[in-house]
Amino acid sequence: MVKDTFRHRGKRNQLVELLKAKGIKQERVLEAIGAIPRHLFMDSSFEDHAYQDKAFPIAAGQTISQPFTVAFQTSLLQVNPEDKILEIGTGSGYQTAVLCYLKAKVYSIERQRELYKKTKRFLQEIGYRPKYLNFGDGYKGLASYAPYDKIIVTAGAPFVPKPLLAQLKIGGRLVIPVGEEQQIMTLYVRTGEKSFEKHEYGEFRFVPLLENKN
Ligand code: SAH
Repeated sequence: MVKDTFRHRGKRNQLVELLKAKGIKQERVLEAIGAIPRHLFMDSSFEDHAYQDKAFPIAAGQTISQPFTVAFQTSLLQVNPEDKILEIGTGSGYQTAVLCYLKAKVYSIERQRELYKKTKRFLQEIGYRPKYLNFGDGYKGLASYAPYDKIIVTAGAPFVPKPLLAQLKIGGRLVIPVGEEQQIMTLYVRTGEKSFEKHEYGEFRFVPLLENKN
């Protein structure tokens, strides 16, 4: 396995400065990006790309999200220590690691078996401890551990799956990119049993949240 070196840490600090310049303000989020060795979440031959602010291909035709996107979504979640957070789309596990670093109790779902297995092993190896990794369909959420303080979807959702809204605590936040070709980053805040506030935050591009293909 490639190590985390002084050079990697230097590049990470530059990335943190770039994210600040792009408007990321939450100190703990910046601290997480500055601490987590993103290059280890990618194939070692691509490690030179790890600290550019770009999405990058990982196994099974999927991508590790762009650092700005990870920082932006994580900021919208307003993570507090001990928050119970559901993530849809474990992928490389990088976003999972960011949430673990922020001391959240993380539950994450991935529908690609290969990725699910690989990432489960890898996160253990590197010492991040999500509460539960699930091989399954994120459209259904994870009812057995609901309700959640926060839910984050890291793939482009053509619509907002009802189970995700239902599995949110009152006062809880769902951050989800909604759309087909491009997505609008959308935040839902549950204000009551049947009421939600909706806020929109501009365009992003994700791999699709796939339905009925599990
Ligand atoms: N959070 C990841 C982003 C990975 S890209 C990271 O930081 O690397 C989105 C991921 O969502 C892919 O791994 C894809 O396989 C997964 N995905 C797509 N549809 C899904 C579904 N219905 N349920 C769970 N995961 C899904």
